[in-house]
Amino acid sequence: MQAGDPPPFTVVNPLGRAKVLLICDHASRAVPRVLENLGLSDTDLAKHVGWDIGAAALTLELSRRWDAPAVLSGFSRLVVDCNRTLGEPTSMPAVSDGIAVPGNARLTDEQAAARAAACYWPYHEAVSAALDRFAAAGVAPAVVSMHSFTPRMNGMDRPWHVGVLWDKDPRLAVPLIANLARLHGLTVGDNEPYSARDPHGFTLRHHAQPRGLPHVLLEMRQDEVGTDAGVLRYADFLETAFAPILVDPALYRPALYM
Ligand SMILES: [Zn+2]
Repeated sequence: MQAGDPPPFTVVNPLGRAKVLLICDHASRAVPRVLENLGLSDTDLAKHVGWDIGAAALTLELSRRWDAPAVLSGFSRLVVDCNRTLGEPTSMPAVSDGIAVPGNARLTDEQAAARAAACYWPYHEAVSAALDRFAAAGVAPAVVSMHSFTPRMNGMDRPWHVGVLWDKDPRLAVPLIANLARLHGLTVGDNEPYSARDPHGFTLRHHAQPRGLPHVLLEMRQDEVGTDAGVLRYADFLETAFAPILVDPALYRPALYM
């Protein structure tokens, strides 16, 4: 890391009183200066391949409304994808949605390890530390992972406004899918456009599942949340859809869904 590089993570509102931890794996499109934009233009890095457009802004808005702590990643998913297991091909992809990433084309093990040490583990250690703070206070929080997806992929328009991704723990996902559709008329993807039942997601599997914390991953469509107005609109949707779920004290009991 050099002067001018951002930190590998940002913790917002660490002492927030909500029993919720917000996390945002793909919050930033920043690349450490030494990696020279990975050989990409700023235009390409600003596309969905570089980061989750709108996800950080929505995370910050919910953090403020809920008075909840949030942990956001500091670097582009193309540097190292914080929601992948290290060593997977998509962890430091040489091609992402048809865009070649020259800086990832011939990575040595040493270079990959240096990225993991500088950009990946510090973020995950910050998530662990945030969960440890809850644990020390005797609280089992809900963990909400915020993402966004591109409206068109592989020639197909994606119809969902929101995707709710979950594997075995239904506590947040099932009522949330119902509430988002019923209260706001949204087209909600149940494990669409991605599924949490494929082996790819790392963060919730690593942090929330083993602690038995209620957890869910949300995917927001980028043409809906890519503007300030869209962020506020979806913050309203999520706030009202989550409200009856988060108010139930039974939610905050650790339970292992293995
Ligand atoms: Zn994402």
